[in-house]
Amino acid sequence: MANPITAITTRSAPYSRLKTALADVLLVQADASGAHTEVAIERSDRLGGGIVLTGAKALQKAEHLVREKKYERPILIDRARYAGKNRALASHAFDSDWVARQRALGLPALMPDAGYIGERDYPGLRDVLERTADLGSDVVALLPLHVSWLKQENLRQLVDAVTDVGVPIAVALEHKDDPLSAQYAVYGLVALLQTPVPVLLLRCDTSSIGALAYGALAAAVGTHSALRHIYPVVEGGGGGGRNPKPAAVVQRLLSYVHLDKIDLTAAMDPDHPDWHCSCDVCNGQSLMELNSAPNPEQIAFLHSIEILFRIRTGILLAGGLAQRRAAWTAQCSSAQFNHMDIDNTVSAWEIPDYLNNWVKRGNDTGGLSAPAIPQGARP
Ligand SMILES: [Zn+2]
Repeated sequence: MANPITAITTRSAPYSRLKTALADVLLVQADASGAHTEVAIERSDRLGGGIVLTGAKALQKAEHLVREKKYERPILIDRARYAGKNRALASHAFDSDWVARQRALGLPALMPDAGYIGERDYPGLRDVLERTADLGSDVVALLPLHVSWLKQENLRQLVDAVTDVGVPIAVALEHKDDPLSAQYAVYGLVALLQTPVPVLLLRCDTSSIGALAYGALAAAVGTHSALRHIYPVVEGGGGGGRNPKPAAVVQRLLSYVHLDKIDLTAAMDPDHPDWHCSCDVCNGQSLMELNSAPNPEQIAFLHSIEILFRIRTGILLAGGLAQRRAAWTAQCSSAQFNHMDIDNTVSAWEIPDYLNNWVKRGNDTGGLSAPAIPQGARP
């Protein structure tokens, strides 16, 4: 049952509470119960920050944070029933108590425990959007999408359904590595960000800043790799993600790089500016120190979140959306060159595809007025 007071307030000013609470926020997406939960919460508690608590215990954790810890930044609750080998599918019924308890906490954006929206599952997409709309104007539709929804042949259906139903959306993308490694995915995401509804991007990495530059209301960066995308279910089991080596953001490369790779490469040119960091965590030390810390994954996360907030600040200071896009494109372009610079000295360094895709999108003819949806997708 919708809280009548909340419903009246939000109906009179659509999305105003959502926008006030979440505009340009860089969220930290963390497991609700895990080795890094507390430190993630602590680091997210800053101006322009907030937290996405993830998993079955997310709500319980949020209740503790709000009622006991008096955490005042935005909190989003992602039950993640769409992930893992026993994932729920889009047709799965929402747990009404899950939303009611979020509403009781006064959270700025309530999310139902939506299931996975598979390739070409248009009925499932409509179903999640429409059932979310029925829950009240303070609820955001959680869309855990197969990345092919961003392909030009599917994008129009997606954009039209989102526009037609008219509820804010929170998108998470499925891919075994990086959903935005495909050019169509960056173009599709940008098109989705131009729909009239507020869009949040969950489970992302450095591209979260790109999303903010292109008009996402807020974007979330995962504390570890499994929370930086939805890992696909693989034949014979799995679906929760592998256990990849820890990685840290290298600012000049605008990329997460495995700590082992940082060590190997930095050792060959230890004075190079790529490998030194002035963030509060590193305090001027070499990034090689991350791998020799007692808890490399946690320290890599702490460093990475400092750098991402720093990059976010630089992009937001550029000005309006056009200036932000230009600044993001320039940073991605510069990172391409920095990757090439390394490639001259050490093998196995390639420019990440998402950087190339963001640069291509940013330089697309007409910039802001360039077609939001690539040619061929229009009816
Ligand atoms: Zn650092």
